[in-house]
Amino acid sequence: MNIETIAAQAAHKIDSATGAVAPPIYLSSTFERDADGQYGRGFVYSRSNNPNRQALEECMALLEGGTSAAAFSSGMAAISSVFQALSPGDHIVLPGDCYHGTSQVVQEIFSQWGLEATTVDLTDPSRVRGALRPNTRLVWIETPSNPVLKITDLAAIAAIAHDAGALCVSDNTWASPILQQPLALGVDLVVHSTTKYLGGHEDVLGGVVVSREDSDFFRRIRSIQSRYGAVPSPFDCWLVMRGIRTLALRMPAHSERALKIARFLQEQSQVEAVHYPGLPDHPGHATASAQMSGYGGMLSFQVRGGIEAAFGVAAGVKVFVRATSLGGTQSLIEHRASIEGPASTTPDNLLRVSVGLENVDDLIADLAQAL
Ligand SMILES: *Cc1c(COP(=O)(O)O)cnc(C)c1O
Repeated sequence: MNIETIAAQAAHKIDSATGAVAPPIYLSSTFERDADGQYGRGFVYSRSNNPNRQALEECMALLEGGTSAAAFSSGMAAISSVFQALSPGDHIVLPGDCYHGTSQVVQEIFSQWGLEATTVDLTDPSRVRGALRPNTRLVWIETPSNPVLKITDLAAIAAIAHDAGALCVSDNTWASPILQQPLALGVDLVVHSTTKYLGGHEDVLGGVVVSREDSDFFRRIRSIQSRYGAVPSPFDCWLVMRGIRTLALRMPAHSERALKIARFLQEQSQVEAVHYPGLPDHPGHATASAQMSGYGGMLSFQVRGGIEAAFGVAAGVKVFVRATSLGGTQSLIEHRASIEGPASTTPDNLLRVSVGLENVDDLIADLAQAL
């Protein structure tokens, strides 16, 4: 089945009791046990499983080309489940440019559990090789990366990880399975913040881990999901499924608008640099062209005149919304260093943009007047 078809139907099943075409929401926290003590219908208690969650997990496994998926209450809960599945004394390799929540959870929480981490620039495979240790269990990828849109060669880094006996995990939030399929390139696990493009409407928080194989490592993640209990509500799962139905149409629309905005920004004298992998002079353009079917809806740019000039541009927008997050219908702009906190290495004149689904001429005119 083609991915557009999987997305449009979002792995739904016609409700056998009523014929309902849109899936019912199963709010029940618990499920009836058969007279013989069995659970013949497969559901016991909603922390362990729920029909809406199961449908979302089946859908995500199909979209990413994996065998199984585990849904969580946020992207960070999904990401943390991967680190929780490791053991004290294990070592991981993390990208230098990466969602700040991922680096923070490793540095502030998992380091106390004895997890060792090395941060490297993943765009240079030789540095990844140099960072490997005998106890390296996992190499983490995020491509395009947050917030300067570095592009990592998924197949090359997965091969390096596997040579060292380590797993390779990719945060595919920014590309979505429509634009990039890491599991087909050798990556073992994909994680998502479903809060972003999958949900797509700025109205739900969620996360998911998708596995290429039914490995022991994934079974640990599955048990962390139900034992630890950071699970999404049935309605959250339903909202993400509803978002997925239009994902295949939305991603090319986000990408098309983002490219036009990146080209516009590149020509403005007040703009010092534009970071968008769809631009031919972006250092990751060739790799992005090889492993993505579109360059996505995220970009960032640096304003001439430092932090004050950048805040001035953000203050001047009328169509863009000043807010963090991404992947919804409304275009968002944010001063990134100030949201990432004191440890941030993001340039202080950088604005991050999530290009929504408005008419691109309105977005360009808005940026033009703000600049
Ligand atoms: C937003 C985001 C996350 C965190 O997801 P939450 O749903 O906010 O917990 C992780 N990775 C990337 C790339 C993100 O953009």
